Amino acid sequence: MEFDLVVIGSGPGGYVSAIRASQLGMKVAIVEKDALGGICLNWGCIPTKALLKSGELYEKMSHLDAFGLSAKDVSFDFAAVIARSRKVSAQLNAGVTFLMKKHKIEVILGTARLEKSVPAPKVVVALAGGGSRTLQAKNVLVATGARARTLPDIGLVPDGERIWSYREALTPKACPATVLVIGSGAIGIEFASFYRALGADVTVIEAMGRILPAEDEEVSAAAQKAFEGRGLKFRIAASVKGLTKTKTGISLALDLGGKAETLTADVAIMAVGIVGNTENMGLEALGVKVEKTHIIVNDHGATGVPGLYAIGDVAGPPWLAHKASHEGTHCVEHLAGQGGAALKAPIPGCTYSDPQIASVGMTEVQAKAKGLKVRVGRFPFKGNGKAIASGETDGFIKTLFDAETGALVGAHLIGAEVTEMVQGFALAMTLEATEAEIHATVFPHPTMSEAMHESALDAFDRVLHM
Ligand SMILES: Cc1cc2nc3c(=O)[nH]c(=O)nc-3n(C[C@H](O)[C@H](O)[C@H](O)COP(=O)(O)OP(=O)(O)OC[C@H]3O[C@@H](n4cnc5c(N)ncnc54)[C@H](O)[C@@H]3O)c2cc1C
Repeated sequence: MEFDLVVIGSGPGGYVSAIRASQLGMKVAIVEKDALGGICLNWGCIPTKALLKSGELYEKMSHLDAFGLSAKDVSFDFAAVIARSRKVSAQLNAGVTFLMKKHKIEVILGTARLEKSVPAPKVVVALAGGGSRTLQAKNVLVATGARARTLPDIGLVPDGERIWSYREALTPKACPATVLVIGSGAIGIEFASFYRALGADVTVIEAMGRILPAEDEEVSAAAQKAFEGRGLKFRIAASVKGLTKTKTGISLALDLGGKAETLTADVAIMAVGIVGNTENMGLEALGVKVEKTHIIVNDHGATGVPGLYAIGDVAGPPWLAHKASHEGTHCVEHLAGQGGAALKAPIPGCTYSDPQIASVGMTEVQAKAKGLKVRVGRFPFKGNGKAIASGETDGFIKTLFDAETGALVGAHLIGAEVTEMVQGFALAMTLEATEAEIHATVFPHPTMSEAMHESALDAFDRVLHM
């Protein structure tokens, strides 16, 4: 057999799986039709964070007086901001190339499709340089990811000019003066935050009743208030009737509960979800189950077709890089006969806007819907010494505990650098910590993480600094 494992797609799901498989002694090939690192490194997690950092610094430099500082003529070179973001992606793409070499993983550039075979489907690759190559492995892992959802019926299709998906929004030639962001999930909010930071007039349109609908309701409300404080505008419970191009930009027809409104702007950014990359791969002929554009798999990533597995975005939500890597690691360890990390570990979610938002576990509404009696703790950053010293007093940490067992069942954070804190709660939940362990944990002073402790104390009426 030529390979033990062929991985299709080199995003954080695919390349991490390939490395883990190689560590476990497998002979591995990875097939990629575009750039090593997938959406995450090239068009997602990483380049957006580079842009957001530029935006954050620019906005901070423009409000330095509170710190006793001043800077004159603060400005930005938009082309240089974009170029830095692309350079960061290129650096990480080179990093994945290095890792593939280090772990003796054969990289095959081309587009893969599957054909019936045993012990696993054959992988037929239309090579990027021309010609084709057929690979036979003991197992095949599909990690082909996802792409932006389009809604052609209402004009939500990127045109490379005025209607942008995340790809165009990451590489425009000039900074637009007015932007409409359609969709207020993490991706929409991050682009809204970035373009607002550079001074654009940004309106976010959300079909549901609140922004960041996956987050806890209190966090959604606080986030909207904080964003409005930065000048972002919102249209909530607004359904898009049609997006059209005009001579100078775009025009968006909305229905706000029976009231019609038309908004105009230079550009529209579509952030209305994603669809799995399942087409033209021969999945139907193999009998692979695909529902709502995602491959249906069991707890180990098995598709039901012998030797064929799927992980990451193509295997369904949450569409997050760390979920893809976690599933890939688990799947490969399972293939190697190891138990592997628990597949159902809690998965934190983060939005890297200003302020940042992070959460893990159930929201209060979800916990109550499950019939859980919860104890709720809250601690605002305005009661935290480090936050006051840093001028970062906006936001709070909310924790939810099962009132009967004391288990931490959810944590919801909004404020500066909370995306770096949520991991503490994820670790606690993975270790099945109760309030007793969190209360007994020593948090360094002064840090914003002390608000994590205080929130857990508050849930049991033991808060110290409020
Ligand atoms: C703007 C944006 C910001 C984001 N920010 C974050 C964030 O901050 N944190 C986070 O966790 N997630 C974020 N995400 C989501 C994250 O990028 C994805 O969850 C993650 O990339 C999924 O990894 P994956 O390995 O499943 O697929 P992908 O990263 O999509 O990789 C799949 C790869 O498969 C290749 N491929 C597809 N079909 C074939 C084929 N037939 N043959 C060969 N190769 C193929 C593709 O070219 C691609 O390189 C963001 C996404 C976007 C769009």
